[in-house]
Amino acid sequence: MNTVRTTAALRALDAAHHLHPFTNARELNAQGVRIIESARGVYLTDSDGQKILDGMSGLWCSTLGYGRREILDAVTKQMEVLPFYNTFFKTSHPPVIQLSKRLAEVTPSQFNHFMFTGSGSESNDTIFRLVRYYWDLVGQPDKTVFISRHNSYHGSTVAAASLGGLSAMHKQGGLPIPGIVHAPQPAWWAEGGDMSPDSFGLHVARQTLDMIDEIGADKVAAMFAEPIQGAGGVIIPPATYWPELSKGLKERDILLISDEVICGFGRTGHWFGCELMNTQPDFMTLAKGITSGYIPLGAVAVSDRIASALLAHGDEFAHGFTYSGHPAACAAALATLDIMQSEDVVRRVHDDIGPYLQEKWRSLAEHPMIGEATMEGLIGSFQFCADKQARTTFPASANIGLAARDFSFDNGLVMRAVGDRMVIAPPFVLSRGEVDELISKASQTIDQTY
Ligand code: PLP
Repeated sequence: MNTVRTTAALRALDAAHHLHPFTNARELNAQGVRIIESARGVYLTDSDGQKILDGMSGLWCSTLGYGRREILDAVTKQMEVLPFYNTFFKTSHPPVIQLSKRLAEVTPSQFNHFMFTGSGSESNDTIFRLVRYYWDLVGQPDKTVFISRHNSYHGSTVAAASLGGLSAMHKQGGLPIPGIVHAPQPAWWAEGGDMSPDSFGLHVARQTLDMIDEIGADKVAAMFAEPIQGAGGVIIPPATYWPELSKGLKERDILLISDEVICGFGRTGHWFGCELMNTQPDFMTLAKGITSGYIPLGAVAVSDRIASALLAHGDEFAHGFTYSGHPAACAAALATLDIMQSEDVVRRVHDDIGPYLQEKWRSLAEHPMIGEATMEGLIGSFQFCADKQARTTFPASANIGLAARDFSFDNGLVMRAVGDRMVIAPPFVLSRGEVDELISKASQTIDQTY
């Protein structure tokens, strides 16, 4: 193989042949792409040899850190035994069967059936179809409308991008598809005005329920929501929001889909974000942390209410992907679950490394330029502000977030910018020393941006 090694040569080839997702190609090629060559533990190494603390777990997925021998061995072994077989047409294989059973053990008790996909987007598209199929089967075919939220992210396939509330995504490709209504998001700092966080949480939940009543609950099928909006800027809802909203959804017989692609598998200090928020969803969307990002895998957790209707009355559900339940991906997921259980990872996030980071992270809000700094488990954000008291931001043209992201990377820390909010979601295995390094680099970045 003819291997190109120098950074300049790799950049030139990347610019010549690679179209990147979620990237402005002209800006990228003017600036030059960063090339990540290897990773170990919580650190990445780029093609210039710089070591960078990965404060984003890749794309929220590398929860157990890099180079976990147990996962590599499990995948290699599975590839030797059975690298691929499908799960269509009345066939199955041991890893997908074992994984289904293990997921039933770790998910909330209403979940005992799982359908597999290759990603979070595919999982949300799958749920979109399953929900409408379910209401058809139980004799309520008029329940077809979906509620989701402004600024939410549910993926990039057609239904998932339509469910998402990012207007930039809707502008391209003629989205959203019909039958989706976007409700307000519980983003108190940006949108709460004079209300207290608790009053604002109730207000947004009630606005959402009012929208449903206006459409007619007999026409509304389900609501999709992340327990904590991730890609929208890590918006931790006020404590009043989820109790009011989930009670109202239940009273109106609207199904709840908890999109756990980011919040699932320990991120919030609970196995699933719905447990932190104390909701009882009818479906969960799973991906990312299910394999700690080692191999692509998505899943749909289907509650007993839905599964029993499908099993009792359903025909063939004409839906699936070649790689639904890929054996090597299932082996990676099983090894991930083994590590999470043997190392008591969720407890560590909840009781130990989570609180240690949270306290230091929240203290970043003492800086005059930081409006709020919030975190649950190991998912957090801080907000750059022009005026802390008035809760105002700098003009978008100042590009504060993007400047901070670049400073941070140069300082050796990956943080993500969502507008003027900086986001982190580090691997669960980071040590106290690595937390101290993360905080020191984040503070340095804030000072440089200021
Ligand atoms: N749902 C949420 C909450 C996400 O954050 C993402 C991706 O970031 C998705 C769905 C889509 O997942 P994927 O990129 O695996 O398709």
